[in-house]
Amino acid sequence: MRIRMVAGNWKMHGSLAENKRLLDAIAAGLTGAHEEHFVVCVPYPYLFSVQDALKSGNVAWGAQNLSQYEKGAYTGEVSASMLNDFACRYVIVGHSERRTLFNENNAVVAEKYVAAQRAGITPILCIGETLQQREDGITEKVITEQIAAVMQLAGIESFKNAIIAYEPVWAIGTGKTATPQQAQDIQAFIRAGIAQQNSSIADDLTILYGGSVKANNAVELFAMQDIDGGLIGGASLVAEEFIAICRALRH
Ligand code: PEP
Repeated sequence: MRIRMVAGNWKMHGSLAENKRLLDAIAAGLTGAHEEHFVVCVPYPYLFSVQDALKSGNVAWGAQNLSQYEKGAYTGEVSASMLNDFACRYVIVGHSERRTLFNENNAVVAEKYVAAQRAGITPILCIGETLQQREDGITEKVITEQIAAVMQLAGIESFKNAIIAYEPVWAIGTGKTATPQQAQDIQAFIRAGIAQQNSSIADDLTILYGGSVKANNAVELFAMQDIDGGLIGGASLVAEEFIAICRALRH
């Protein structure tokens, strides 16, 4: 069954005190049983306290990155099994900031995706084109290559336990959102590509949209057929915004 989800990406923001305020407000705003999955992906040092704060509630938590390696002399890296120690259910892989600022290419992202799944953690695989690539008319080619790298290494079955987040790079943190139709077109394209290999896996696959989603545009975006929720950066740091975006899934 296709899950509807809102995941917050806190990026390198927060402090123990700020996180507590934010999580208390989110927990108070999202009470009650729900079918949708609400997630916060937090900086590593806060996993322990975030786990403690959320363990008995209905908001899940995860990380924003992981190492492709299991263990060893990789100074500064964090492995999937370490994330397991904090019961992370999700981990973001291949965020455009990792690809652009930290040189993660499609092959490395695919290895990270596999490392997460090997540990039983669901990867939220981020894909998307830059403005230049969109203007050059190669959005679909870029997306196809990003998915193909994962498909080659992990296979179609792996998409039973993965989330895709389509995040046009030009819309991340810029205040420029893709129109619902622009996002829908690419997300339908992504689903159709997966369906070529296995239609039931494609039907069940959760595909999020990310890129300047806010409370005032979430309902419209989430109403599109192939948009199953959102990956939220800036707005996930403001409790009322994040709660409103989560609620937008129910419209
Ligand atoms: C993101 O970081 O994945 C993101 C979509 O950021 P923002 O919502 O701030 O554009």
